[in-house]
Amino acid sequence: MAPAAAAVMSTVDESSPSTSAPSAPRPAAAAAAVAAAVLGSVPVPLSFEHRAGLRDAAGRVMLKNLPLPELEEWCASVGEPPKRAKQLYRWLYGNRRWIRDLDQADSDAQAFSGAFKAKVAAGASLAGGLQLQSVHTARDGTRKLVFALVGDWEGGDGPAGSARGTVETVLIPMTNRQGQNLRYTACLSTQVGCAMNCQFCYTGRMGLLGNLTTAQVIEQVVEARRYLAEQEVQIPIANIVFMGMGEPLHNYDAVMAAIEILATGLELSRNKIIVSTVGLVPEMRRFIASGRAKLAVSLHATTDEVRDWIVPTNRRYPLDELLGALREAFPYGKRKGDDFVVIEYVLLAGVNDTLADAERLLALTSDIYCLVNLIVFNPHDGTQFKRSADDDVRAFRGVFLRAGRPCTVRASKGDDEMAACGQLGDVNLSPRPAPLLRPPEAIAARLAAGAASQA
Ligand code: SAH
Repeated sequence: MAPAAAAVMSTVDESSPSTSAPSAPRPAAAAAAVAAAVLGSVPVPLSFEHRAGLRDAAGRVMLKNLPLPELEEWCASVGEPPKRAKQLYRWLYGNRRWIRDLDQADSDAQAFSGAFKAKVAAGASLAGGLQLQSVHTARDGTRKLVFALVGDWEGGDGPAGSARGTVETVLIPMTNRQGQNLRYTACLSTQVGCAMNCQFCYTGRMGLLGNLTTAQVIEQVVEARRYLAEQEVQIPIANIVFMGMGEPLHNYDAVMAAIEILATGLELSRNKIIVSTVGLVPEMRRFIASGRAKLAVSLHATTDEVRDWIVPTNRRYPLDELLGALREAFPYGKRKGDDFVVIEYVLLAGVNDTLADAERLLALTSDIYCLVNLIVFNPHDGTQFKRSADDDVRAFRGVFLRAGRPCTVRASKGDDEMAACGQLGDVNLSPRPAPLLRPPEAIAARLAAGAASQA
C-alpha cells in the first residue's frame, strides 16, 4: 500500500485488543427455536426484515443495525416496553458508554435485568462486526484506523454484510488559524472496494468486494471514540463525511439507517454529516427528499466526454440529468443558509483543469445553490494522473472568486499514510481489479505531448 512518502515515516501500531470475539455460528432455525423456548412463543416477524444483512448466520438480530424505532419494535417483539430500547440505545452509543456486552452496565442503577439479558442472548447480538487492527498516524496528525470485518451474516453470498477483508476509517484533524486541533472529521467507509471505477481513485481499482452493514458503518465511529478515549485525546469527533471506501448511495438502506443512528444515538448534527456520491441520480433524489443529512456530489468534469472516462457512472447518468436534478433540488436564490450542495471537483493536470473548464463549471453551476470544493489529487501507486500545478489551481479558483461564487480548495491530509481521499483500500485484496478505461483522443494526445515535453 505504501507510496514512496509513507516509507519515510514509520507506521505506529497503536491498536489495542478490541471487540470481543464473534460467537460461533449456529443455524438460524436453531437460534429461532432457542428464542421461542425462552420467550415461550414464535418470534414475531419484524417490519424491517426486508433490509439485507440484519441478522447473523445464527439468525440473531444484530441490534446495532437498528435505529431507535426499529429497536423499539424488536423490544416489543420480545415483550419489552419502548423504554428498554431507549435504555439500550443510550448504553450502546451514549458518551463513554459504548458497551459491547450488557454485563458492562451491571454496576449502574440503569443495569439490565437478567430476564432481558436472556432475551438478548437468545435472539440478538450487540456485535458491531468490526475489529480494530491497527492505527497509522500521518505527519499532519491524520489517523487511519484499519478494521478487520468479523462475524458471519445470513445469506453469506449476498451483498450485505457478506464482505470480507478490511475497511478503513480516517480521522482528520480540523485546526483553527492558530493550528490548534479543535475537532475531528471522521471519514467513513460504506463498502469494501467500490463498483464505480472512477479512474483516479485507488479504492475504485479494487472493484466491489461487498457492502458493509449499518452496524459496521456506525461501529467505525463508536470504535474511533473508544480509541480516542483510550488515548486520552479530548478532541471530539464532530463531523462525519461518507467519503471513505465505497459509494454510499450504492449501499442505500444500510447507509440511511446508519445516518439515523449517528444523528439520534451518537448525537451528531445532521448538518455535520455529509454523504458524498458519484451521482447515482435516483438514489440521490431519494436521499435529498429524506432531508437526513447533507449532500456532496463528485462532479470532476464539465463535459460528458471527459466525465464518461474518469467517472464512468456518467454513461448512465450524464451531466444534464445529474445537474438537472441538482437544479431542481437546490435552486439558486431559493435555498438559504446551510442548505447548499457541495460540488466536488478533483483537479487533474491536463485533464480537467483548464480555464475553459473553470468557465464551464461556473456556467453549469450558476443556477445551483452550491459550494464548489476543488480537491487536490492524491497520487497512488500505478496511477496515470498528476495533480494540477499550484498556479493552475489558483487560476481555476480565481474564475469563481471573480464571479462572486464561493470556491474552496481541499488540501490533502494524511497522504503520507495513504489515508487521504481516494487512497483507501488494498488492490492486492481484489481477485479482479477494475479495468482502466481509454481516455478521449484529444486528452490522450494532450497528455502524451505533456509527457514528451517533460522527457
Ligand atoms: N463514492 C463517493 C465517495 C468517494 S471518496 C463519491 O464518489 O463521491 C470522496 C471524494 O474523493 C470523491 O469526490 C472522490 O472522487 C475523491 N477522490 C477519489 N480519489 C481521489 C484521489 N486520488 N485524490 C483526490 N480525491 C479523490
